[in-house]
Amino acid sequence: MDEFDLIEEFFTRPTRRAEVVLGVGDDAALLTLAGAANTLAVTTDTLIEGVHFLPSAPGFDVGYKALAVNVSDLAAMGACPLAFLLSLTLPAVDRSWLAGFRDGLFALADAVGLDLIGGDTVRGPLAVTITALGTVAPGTALRRDGARPGDRVYVSGLLGEAALGFFLRAGRLSLPPEFQESVLARLDRPWPRIHEGQALVGIASAAIDISDGLVADLGHILKASGVGARLDLRRLPLSDAYDAAFPTLGYDPALVFGDDYELCFTVPPERVPALAGVASRLMCGLHYIGDIVAGAGLTLHDGQGAYTPARAGYNHFDDAGSL
Ligand code: ADP
Ligand code: MG
Repeated sequence: MDEFDLIEEFFTRPTRRAEVVLGVGDDAALLTLAGAANTLAVTTDTLIEGVHFLPSAPGFDVGYKALAVNVSDLAAMGACPLAFLLSLTLPAVDRSWLAGFRDGLFALADAVGLDLIGGDTVRGPLAVTITALGTVAPGTALRRDGARPGDRVYVSGLLGEAALGFFLRAGRLSLPPEFQESVLARLDRPWPRIHEGQALVGIASAAIDISDGLVADLGHILKASGVGARLDLRRLPLSDAYDAAFPTLGYDPALVFGDDYELCFTVPPERVPALAGVASRLMCGLHYIGDIVAGAGLTLHDGQGAYTPARAGYNHFDDAGSL
């Protein structure tokens, strides 16, 4: 049983409140209170020591990334960051670690305009849970269920950079020195695509952030939208560092590793000119990688023929016997 089957079997049920526009199943839930001019986007994510970060990780990076993964979910909804809650589980009070953690947390909070409004602090194995709130105009949020056959599939930025950082740190990959710092930074301090997400409101028909790998996350859009997709792997945006490592790595780290926190989104053909209009004022590139098709499932090809990655994507419960 994977984590998504678990959520579906035990925790997905119809919502009863009229205020709940969208419940379980997207990057964030959407709530519109009676009379409110804005819809609230709400998301939560947990980082656990030993699962999401190494015990040796600097406090700064843990604080930054715990918030970044939540902001990335707001970005995937096209929401504007508003505020967040911080629940900390700490084995002991380590002042210097906490000072670093706070600095990393507030560095990103200040950069994207988020206020810390509450949380909880308890003793236990090190874990950080953040709940982030954002706003979006009613009816305009980027959801997973809006992709239609004929739409184009895009990704922002570069894919596989976090994988390169992970393999480099694990000693499983050697990279020329000029590439090392940037791939480690992409793993430790991903920049959530918040401006891109907001710019895509009114343009994208569906969106998700890539936390578990392109194949798994685009798969969520396909399932929610009831469509399939066909991607051309030669179009994947890969860095010079990735190109240098490509003979050893092939496509899989860019497809199934995750942790990149780029956006994957779909755009109807008639809105492609509008996309070109906003793309020029964004910090990262937006890359056309394939098309939504009728039917179900994802087809990958590299010009030579069909391609199947070795595994589907990151999943907390996918090891046989772990649950
Ligand atoms: P993301 O990767 O965008 O953070 P997840 O893969 O963690 O999303 O979760 C998928 C969906 O399931 C989300 O809508 C999330 O809010 C919901 N979800 C996850 N765990 C639970 C749970 N225990 N109860 C209810 N909903 C959950
Ligand atoms: Mg997400």
